[in-house]
Amino acid sequence: MQPRRHPTLNADPHKPPVGWLIASGILQVDRTVRGYYLRQQAVNGRCHTRDCRRTCWVDVRRLQADGLGALRMDQVKSLFKCQRLDGCGMVFHDELKAESLKLESLCGRRAVTIQLRCRGCKNELKVAPEHLIARLKAEAKGGGDTEVRDLANLMTGACKTCGKTAWAVDVAWPDPETWGGRRMIDLAEPTASGPIDPLDL
Ligand SMILES: [Zn+2]
Ligand SMILES: [Zn+2]
Repeated sequence: MQPRRHPTLNADPHKPPVGWLIASGILQVDRTVRGYYLRQQAVNGRCHTRDCRRTCWVDVRRLQADGLGALRMDQVKSLFKCQRLDGCGMVFHDELKAESLKLESLCGRRAVTIQLRCRGCKNELKVAPEHLIARLKAEAKGGGDTEVRDLANLMTGACKTCGKTAWAVDVAWPDPETWGGRRMIDLAEPTASGPIDPLDL
């Protein structure tokens, strides 16, 4: 596969990156064959069963061309398993680089925020990516090139409501194709700058 810069950002700032989708206002990796194809994400497998050790590579380009783009990758993976009586030890590896989502790529998009949800009390905070970047820099924990998937581990501050430290981190991304999402985008404050204090990281 050709190397490509990840993620492939859309020219329209309200559209999700190529190979991602919006589900109920949350940005998610598209786990269909089509999503893997669009992200040019490699999937490799290796069977750890003794006397097998088979390796495989999922050709998403071919599957997409054959009209199988809507299949979920976990369905495809189960089809790639060995048909042995003693079972299959196939372990798959998704190339992680293709799912890269850096904080800086979320900046300057109206109504796109980092959503922090406390697993203890379900308290929710929404933070502009610009603010989070400034905060990470101030604490020397990261910056614009910090991966969104690494954020949960960087949140060491306790919830101000219940005192627990267990944050679920998502990217809130209103869907411009829906009436509600469009309205959120239209009503959002222009991307703000300057310090706020949503929580202690
Ligand atoms: Zn096998
Ligand atoms: Zn809490």
